[in-house]
Amino acid sequence: MIPVRCFTCGKVISTVYEEYIRRCEEGEEPELALNDLGLDRYCCRRMLLTHKEIINDINPYQ
Ligand SMILES: [Zn+2]
Repeated sequence: MIPVRCFTCGKVISTVYEEYIRRCEEGEEPELALNDLGLDRYCCRRMLLTHKEIINDINPYQ
């Protein structure tokens, strides 16, 4: 499960997580999706990018 807040800066990231995953599943570039969702700090982006890699590892359909 995604953490509610970024460990580094405290920004709430759980609210954009589902939207981020949906955009990635639709083929949008993860980095562009993060830009559009307002996650401009590297610490927050890293948390979501890392989390998606974990999802890919356990999902046999991706
Ligand atoms: Zn952050």
